[in-house]
Amino acid sequence: MTETVKFDSLGLAPELLKALTDSGYTTPTPIQAQAIPLALAGGDLMAGAQTGTGKTAAFALPLLQKLLPLANHGTSPAKHPVRALILTPTRELAIQVEESVKAYAKHTPLRSLVVFGGVDIRTQTPHLKTGVEVLVATPGRLLDHIEQKTVQLNQVQILVLDEADRMLDMGFMPDLKRILALLPKQRQNLMFSATFSNDIKKLADDFLTKPQLIEVARSNATNDNVTQKVYPVAQSDKEALLIQLLKNSDSKQVLIFTKTKITASRLSRSLERVGIAADAIHGDKTQQERIKALDAFKAGTATVLVATDVAARGLDIDQLPMVINYEIPSAPEDYVHRIGRTGRAGALGVAISFVSPEEDKYLVEIEKLIKRQISKETIEIVRSSASTRSHSNASKPSYARTASASAHQETTATKRMPAKKKSSDPWFDKPYEAVIAQQQVTDTLRAIRKVPVAALLGGLLASK
Ligand code: AMP
Repeated sequence: MTETVKFDSLGLAPELLKALTDSGYTTPTPIQAQAIPLALAGGDLMAGAQTGTGKTAAFALPLLQKLLPLANHGTSPAKHPVRALILTPTRELAIQVEESVKAYAKHTPLRSLVVFGGVDIRTQTPHLKTGVEVLVATPGRLLDHIEQKTVQLNQVQILVLDEADRMLDMGFMPDLKRILALLPKQRQNLMFSATFSNDIKKLADDFLTKPQLIEVARSNATNDNVTQKVYPVAQSDKEALLIQLLKNSDSKQVLIFTKTKITASRLSRSLERVGIAADAIHGDKTQQERIKALDAFKAGTATVLVATDVAARGLDIDQLPMVINYEIPSAPEDYVHRIGRTGRAGALGVAISFVSPEEDKYLVEIEKLIKRQISKETIEIVRSSASTRSHSNASKPSYARTASASAHQETTATKRMPAKKKSSDPWFDKPYEAVIAQQQVTDTLRAIRKVPVAALLGGLLASK
């Protein structure tokens, strides 16, 4: 159905169509083809769409179109009140959404601005005071501005809740309620969510009026463009397996997920210790440093980005070919979000999950949610360099069976590292063991190209 739809048949203004051509978009994505006409018609919308489906344009284009009659070149701030408010759970997503709004509005006089926490609020105030029609914000920082009376929301006509499920997960419900209470009752609401939990349905009941429901893919479904695989592997073997995959992968950009900031930080340090240039960022570092890591990754200076769920939320990286779940998430919805980083806008992607026996229970929940079994592959872990290679039939590695037809298959049988009890955090290993471990991995890596790594961490920094 959507194959034949063109942007110019959706009733969009020439200024917007021109911006779409500038962006190189020719055909609307399914969510755009469905959401744009409905949003233009003026009703509330509840849309189930993952990041990567083109959902930003699906709400930004109709929103801009509806504000166009009010667009003006006036210099007075009063001529540019906030008329559309877009709330996002994370600063990274806020930045990306506002960049898109700016790109689509470039041939109009409509102004946009993004405000988020983690930076000096005073740097945002002068921009706000000049007046903007479209404000993109994280809830915490918006409330700061409301308290400081640096923003007025009494002329908001359109509210967008982007990644609403994540906003609830991150505990933004009280903030949302406070903000929504300040908006005019008469307004259009557009809610986007990758997953439809009962809490999301309740949020929709509370805040939307007779919403039209659109789903581009089954809710909680994963993208068919993404090849999903599970590698069963002992927790203590994950690091070696990761290094091996990185070595054998042609991917120029790999996003690696860990459950916690600590693991992300330690993992990037471990990679550094074996000669892989690492650009680690942790929760105590500044927003600028996080943006720098993301930019390095986007620019290809860093090939590997290690991220937690919160930090990675909303990352818009075109053509990301591979996502690796170093640890699978205990909340199955997070799996859907994570692998939504790859296979975007029709591109193909690979999502690999390392699953230790202790994590099997989470895998069961994920497969239940996505209503499909993820194929399991096993891979032989190479422990030493070619010069010392030999077969070791005596010691069976924990999960070392050769993968068949794997994209990352190991072609050589090699001597494996003796079964040595490894701490789950090698950083805290005793010095003697740590040196051995490092030497072994260094040997394995000797021939590997350098893979710069950036760790982008989140959690504590969200939106305040
Ligand atoms: P989103 O789901 O909004 O994060 O969009 C995912 C990616 O798809 C972004 O990089 C967009 O620039 C891109 N995109 C959005 N709409 C289109 C389109 N109609 N054609 C091609 N790419 C698009």
